[in-house]
Amino acid sequence: MNIHEYQGKEIFKEYGIPVNDQAIVTTPEAAREAASAMGTTVVVKAQVLVGGRGKAGGVKIAKTPEEADARARDILALTIKGIPVEKVMITPASEINREYYVSITVNRNDNNLLLMMSRAGGVDIEDLAVNRPEEIIRFPIHPADGIDESGLEAALAEVFETPTLQSQAKDAVHRLYRIFMEKDCSLVEINPYALVEDEKLVALDAKVNFDDNAVFKHPEVEALRNPEELSADETTANAAGLSFVSMDGTIGCMVNGAGLAMATMDIIKLYGGDPANFLDVGGSSNPAKVVSALKIITGNPRVEAILINIFGGITRCDDIANGILEALAQIDLKLPMVIRLIGTNDDEGRRILEGAGLESYQSLGEAVEHVVAAAGGVKA
Ligand code: ADP
Ligand code: MG
Repeated sequence: MNIHEYQGKEIFKEYGIPVNDQAIVTTPEAAREAASAMGTTVVVKAQVLVGGRGKAGGVKIAKTPEEADARARDILALTIKGIPVEKVMITPASEINREYYVSITVNRNDNNLLLMMSRAGGVDIEDLAVNRPEEIIRFPIHPADGIDESGLEAALAEVFETPTLQSQAKDAVHRLYRIFMEKDCSLVEINPYALVEDEKLVALDAKVNFDDNAVFKHPEVEALRNPEELSADETTANAAGLSFVSMDGTIGCMVNGAGLAMATMDIIKLYGGDPANFLDVGGSSNPAKVVSALKIITGNPRVEAILINIFGGITRCDDIANGILEALAQIDLKLPMVIRLIGTNDDEGRRILEGAGLESYQSLGEAVEHVVAAAGGVKA
């Protein structure tokens, strides 16, 4: 689960990490008032649940309340990475001397947490990670052992130039680590961790992600959830008990089992197609779920063909076949649909589908080849 910058900064503030004041507004007039109350040059910042706002024109400086009004008007009209901007932050502009990067994340490769720091932070951090990875200092933290203090001091000395900065950053790392552990985060990131006047470090951006499987333990985190985090389809799918994630492609997928659903998306890509979604109907062959799934898939205007991929284990293929027929009786399906059915009772399942004029395949490769062709063929 992801939250806005302003929500992340409220957590930083609560844990004692220095941040600038902030006001959140939804209109240019309110932006003007907030800037006027701050009485200084401000930055107007889009609050959307994606990164890279600076490069997308979502972060602008305003020297006067009138400028804050105008910049807020511009930014509130933006759509950043497909997300319309509905809120902006007004915050005092800092004079930045250097932009550092600090984050703690989970390193799944060695079952550890990873502290990353760099003196070359800012909006180009992704390029830095690719082109100059040696400028990012990586320091492991084992959650059972806690932070190795002398190791941390050595790592800090590679990034921060003076003892004053090192001790501020050390304090911030400890506070970030506490946030990470106490709130079951998957990422806490400050970028830029900015050096402003008089050797002072301040978090000018905040990114906090929570482990979805642990949010139930933290009502105060649940309360931060933003409805716009999920697409409308995802909300409907969750309510119907389906695991669903929207994607950009044209092939709607309905699969039983999360692992198989992932593999199905990979194979669609391999054959030159693009999945429109991840959808796991789960182990049951409950026709109600099949109906909900097909309704969500067909409601997506980008979908040009549907792939149903069922591996019958406990799930019986004849039940699934009946579920599909029941679903088709309830919705008016106009899109081509390709079915791959294999496993328990697949002969019976295929016979049921054939009786209704529906063809099905045993081979996943063959099925995917057909669905990619039905969706308009291999994309350039
Ligand atoms: P994003 O990471 O989404 O691009 P940031 O909050 O990091 O958004 O802002 C992008 C850049 O804008 C920062 O790297 C920094 O240079 C500048 N910036 C952000 N907030 C402030 C601020 N309060 N004062 C001065 N500059 C800022
Ligand atoms: Mg940033």
